[in-house]
Amino acid sequence: MKTRNIYRPYIIPIFLPNAGCKRRCVFCSQKDVTGVEKVPTLIEVRNEIKKFLNYFKDKTRSVEIAFYGGTFTALPIEIQRKYIETALEFVDKKRVIGLRISTRPDDIPPEELDFLKKNKVITIELGIQSFCDDVLKESNRGYDSKQAISGCKRVKSKGFNLGIHLMTGLPSSSHTCDLYSAFKTVEMNPDMVRIHPTLVIKNSMLEKMYLNNSYTPQSLEESLDILSDMYLIFSRYSIPINRMGLQIPVELRNSIVAGPYHPSLGDLVEYESFYKLGTWFFKKFKNGEIVIGKNNLFLLNGYNKKNLRRFGEYVSRIKVIENVENIFFKIGNNVTDYPMVLEKYIEELRSKLETEGRE
Ligand code: SF4
Repeated sequence: MKTRNIYRPYIIPIFLPNAGCKRRCVFCSQKDVTGVEKVPTLIEVRNEIKKFLNYFKDKTRSVEIAFYGGTFTALPIEIQRKYIETALEFVDKKRVIGLRISTRPDDIPPEELDFLKKNKVITIELGIQSFCDDVLKESNRGYDSKQAISGCKRVKSKGFNLGIHLMTGLPSSSHTCDLYSAFKTVEMNPDMVRIHPTLVIKNSMLEKMYLNNSYTPQSLEESLDILSDMYLIFSRYSIPINRMGLQIPVELRNSIVAGPYHPSLGDLVEYESFYKLGTWFFKKFKNGEIVIGKNNLFLLNGYNKKNLRRFGEYVSRIKVIENVENIFFKIGNNVTDYPMVLEKYIEELRSKLETEGRE
């Protein structure tokens, strides 16, 4: 279900694999998921930007150039400046609206943020991954939850768009911990989030942990369970999810050693979320009715009509109407709509967390 108008520019991703990283996070092997072996020269950056600009069909849509794949703000300032100046050539020509960078929450001192602000950086994506200290430690992130929170606040206070990256199923994590991270993310009021279930990637430290049985990846089902809860939380607070799952080119998919990878993960999560919410409601009442617009029928059907089959146990009538955005759940004469059920479900999730002492 659509929840808010979302600013979605085209992104031109420039990968700077592990550039600026002072440590290696356990799950990371940039070259194995991006196929980029070394940082590009300025000429290569320029060519890559031109290639993307030619490729974009909608010439009216905003474009941002993004420096991803490392810790941009930890690069020596002269190197940052060179990359930024190369990208700004395209801003000056009005082909691009501005820049975005990804970095860590503990590497953004105030003077760095001032520098980025002066240089047309619009969006800062922070690799937070988790707000649970034990998970951050086990993942070798090198910062704690307090630093993660203060990083988010600093980015917001300087007027950047804030993106938060989260990962589920990291070492030492749990459903509760990932839920806690999602609620903490809501408190940070980001402009968008990205969520990646942890995959075991070739040549990462996690691969060694997996091979010596000290790390067990989540199954796809376990992953869908937590991701669907997170999806519902962010929908409840109208926070856009810009990506669900790592985007790994087909030719690099043999880099995935283990873990809950699915090429259409985002769709699966959306279907699972709808099923979860519907059955959470109907389990309390049974014999329900769903009133749904044709445009949302894909949610009711799910992947290979799996949702439709599963709903059979709880729903005795389905009414399909013409284009109506909302979805209604009916028990007799009582009608409850999707946002209301969502609100109640999230309240319950939050109070469960409080009971477990996580909030
Ligand atoms: S900070 Fe990001 S790019 Fe650097 S090692 Fe960690 S996950 Fe990889």
